[in-house]
Amino acid sequence: MATIKYSKQREAIRSYLTQTKSHPTAEVVYEEIKKIYPNISLGTVYRNLNFLVEQGDAIKLSCEDHKEHYDGVTHPHSHFYCKCCHQVYDVNFPIPDFQHLSDTCDFKGQIENCTMVFTGICPNCCNNSPQ
Ligand SMILES: [Zn+2]
Ligand SMILES: [Zn+2]
Repeated sequence: MATIKYSKQREAIRSYLTQTKSHPTAEVVYEEIKKIYPNISLGTVYRNLNFLVEQGDAIKLSCEDHKEHYDGVTHPHSHFYCKCCHQVYDVNFPIPDFQHLSDTCDFKGQIENCTMVFTGICPNCCNNSPQ
């Protein structure tokens, strides 16, 4: 029974991640999933998030707030972290072509993914600044 419950929780986490654009931290995911599974622990949420990352169903971003943010959008895309509102946004900044990089930089390994996080002040916070 424990395993069934476990994977149901994981499905809830997975579907939450795919429908949110907010790149939540584990704590935020925990608060959301707790509404569905009140008995879930933060440790279980961490384990499931890491499992999803290992399976390639989610990506983990390390931002300047020193927290890990999780993203259900797994195709390579770039991010912008706002140091004012601490939000992580998807941005359309171009990311390098992996194959091209390997060739031009003479890298013999295999690149699988790329997470790029730009840091600064987002358009919302720029508009709201007092100056
Ligand atoms: Zn902002
Ligand atoms: Zn993203």
